[in-house]
Amino acid sequence: MAESVLTATPTAQESNPYVTAQRQFDQAASILGLDAGLRQVLREVRRELTVNFPVRMDDGRIRIFTGYRVQHNLTRGPAKGGIRYHPQVSLDEVKALAMWMSWKCAVTNLPYGGAKGGVICDPSELSPGELEHMTRRFASEISILIGPESDIPAPDVNTNQQIMAWIMDTISMEKGYSVPATVTGKPLSIGGSEGRPAATGRGVMVVTKEACRRLGIDPAEATVAVQGFGNVGSVTASLLHQEGFRVVAVSDVFGGIYNPEGLDLPELLEHARAKGRVQGFAGSRQEISNADLLELPVTILIPAALENQLTMANAGRVKARLVVEAANGPTTPEADDIFDQRGVVLVPDILANAGGVTVSYFEWVQDLQSFFWEEGEINSRLSRIMELAYEQTDALAQEHHATLRMGAYCLAVKRVADATAARGIYP
Ligand code: NAD
Repeated sequence: MAESVLTATPTAQESNPYVTAQRQFDQAASILGLDAGLRQVLREVRRELTVNFPVRMDDGRIRIFTGYRVQHNLTRGPAKGGIRYHPQVSLDEVKALAMWMSWKCAVTNLPYGGAKGGVICDPSELSPGELEHMTRRFASEISILIGPESDIPAPDVNTNQQIMAWIMDTISMEKGYSVPATVTGKPLSIGGSEGRPAATGRGVMVVTKEACRRLGIDPAEATVAVQGFGNVGSVTASLLHQEGFRVVAVSDVFGGIYNPEGLDLPELLEHARAKGRVQGFAGSRQEISNADLLELPVTILIPAALENQLTMANAGRVKARLVVEAANGPTTPEADDIFDQRGVVLVPDILANAGGVTVSYFEWVQDLQSFFWEEGEINSRLSRIMELAYEQTDALAQEHHATLRMGAYCLAVKRVADATAARGIYP
């Protein structure tokens, strides 16, 4: 993997995702008038596990990897959240992502708390065998936390169905029997769900259409730029293209492409699959940087890569009318304020990308029941949950004269706070 290309330099405070997550929470807690004790409980993560573990590499040498599993909250059910492999993974990043998972599960009213995991590594530098050994040892190290009743991982940046299959197999081997419900995002052959690989992007498409309907934006007139062309970005772009939106720009870690007339998504997917990057696509008019993409004259901007892409350094130059956060944490609180002042509507991550965890929940339910559903049923249940979450978020945003992010936070934090208050403090 090439060195990450940061698109706008955030300030030190902006660049720590856990500081961002806690600032967002504090703002929602103030709007809700949350009790001081509950505030203290919910603004910190409950458990954080750091593991340093050895892996024998192909050349026979031992290498030590560092990984994390963090559980922010377990009050409404088992913790849920993905596992990320990336050179810049840090404990604070994983803590932020775990907290956002709690709110995401509560926005959609799934009976889960929030968790996240990560390993500091560049998977593109590992052989398939090394990747498998690292994954299996990491799964074993965090097995003291994970399991169908306690904490259920899923894919995130640089992890996929195969990695979920190795985690499921490792936990099953340690138990002595198959435990499919221990992770979601697995291959269909071992208890995965129809619709899961596309679920996050499908959910982003549903909320984008919903936002357009409410803002009076005609999809046929709308242009879209998508930053990140991985699982979430590529599916989002493809589904919006199918729905009649004009996707004019996409990018990945190597850079972006732009064609104001629109990109042919099926052809672009073929190109990206073959070349491992979007640049070099014959249907592009212009090669652009990730920074350029964020400032293009488009109707809708969809960050679908990493955190801290929209900051106080570039938010004032964003021309989109609507920003839909497919990635987790792509916008800093400073950029949020700039968008709010400029009338740019932002659909927040904890709502916009909740489609993935929603179908992960369906997968877990199907595994526990050993009874599997058809894709049509999964997609229609997903749409209903996303539309309801949007409606409830919007209603609270209006009631509190606040942004959609604060509407979603109020919905989520209140649900978790009510559950915490009902259960009381043990012992
Ligand atoms: P992925 O690994 O499949 O894809 C990541 C994409 O981002 C790749 O195209 C990569 O080239 C690109 N990228 C990486 N660094 C970049 C940079 N600095 N600038 C521009 N592009 C860059 O990951 P994914 O699963 O698609 O996840 C993307 C985002 O969506 C993350 O924020 C993740 O937490 C979030 N998310 C993922 C899921 C899921 O189900 N996979 C669910 C909810 C949220």
